[in-house]
Amino acid sequence: MTSHHTKLLIIGSGAAGCTAGIYAARAMLKPILVRGMQPGGQLTITTDVENFPGFEHTIQGPWLMEQMEKQAAHVGTTLVDDMIASVDLSKRPFTAVGESGDTYTADAVVIATGATAKWLGMESEKKFQGFGISACATCDGFFFKGKEVVVIGGGNSAVEESLYLANIASKVTLIHRRDSLRAEKIGQERLFKNPKISVEWNAGIDEFLGGGEPLSLTGVRLKNTKDGSIKEIKCDGAFVAIGHKPNTEIFAGQIGMDKEGYILTTPGSTKTNIPGVFAAGDVQDKIFRQAVTAAGTGCMAALEAEKFLAGH
Ligand code: NDP
Repeated sequence: MTSHHTKLLIIGSGAAGCTAGIYAARAMLKPILVRGMQPGGQLTITTDVENFPGFEHTIQGPWLMEQMEKQAAHVGTTLVDDMIASVDLSKRPFTAVGESGDTYTADAVVIATGATAKWLGMESEKKFQGFGISACATCDGFFFKGKEVVVIGGGNSAVEESLYLANIASKVTLIHRRDSLRAEKIGQERLFKNPKISVEWNAGIDEFLGGGEPLSLTGVRLKNTKDGSIKEIKCDGAFVAIGHKPNTEIFAGQIGMDKEGYILTTPGSTKTNIPGVFAAGDVQDKIFRQAVTAAGTGCMAALEAEKFLAGH
């Protein structure tokens, strides 16, 4: 159990955390970046990335994050493999305790803990998690090679997962509760054109079906959201892609958040209600949630932390 002191502690190693690390290290703040439970963040569970500027051709999410972490380390960020379990933001220096037992004290903190996939919250969903139900097509899609799968949701994640799965599975059915998707038009076009993908509109999951030993999913029962009619679809896998929730449990009660748990920042800034504590990336952004916007706010957080530290 070691105690570490740093001018700037960065919690989280996604695009926001790494970018904060790059800028803070180049400002000679010698930041410590705690990598967390999913080093590299959500981009490590995606595949193709074609909207991060600077790359003519499609790149891979895990590769991009590996590069960002290496870049942060190269310019002087200390990356630590630990998971922050608790924080005390009530006084400076701020304190964070890792699951390793190590303590981190810091004159300023950048919170960049990101967000995590949401679940529907049904009993049968819980029962089949890991036995046919997943929230990550790129992680688990391979298990459904040549099989039939469903994807639940109507956003970019649901569309991208459907397209990804269409390369692996024999058939993909996208299940959406309304009659139009909120995903970008380019993704929708690709989805509608793909002969392996069909869409069930105005449909909610009534139940996940299956059984046996070992447990396996065999289908889903759908309930029409307009007329209540019931329909069953056969499937071997189901991918839930209905959005995300911010990873802010350890900060609850200590910092200003909205009712969904996103950390509140001053508009046009990464300042939170605690002087010296900044928030960047998906943990404070439920609107854009892009790698490039996360990186942008990570940069802002480091610059604002530098200014704060210079004044104290
Ligand atoms: P979104 O919040 O955009 O979409 C969630 C979808 O799930 C919506 O269609 C919503 O339906 C549906 N949904 C939510 N709750 C339920 C529920 N309980 N039951 C059934 N359906 C439900 O989440 P995403 O994860 O798709 O995207 C998050 C953000 O990340 C977005 O800003 C998106 O643009 C971005 N993103 C960008 C990518 C890219 O640019 N390459 C890739 C992936 C994500 P309804 O539409 O009715 O609200």
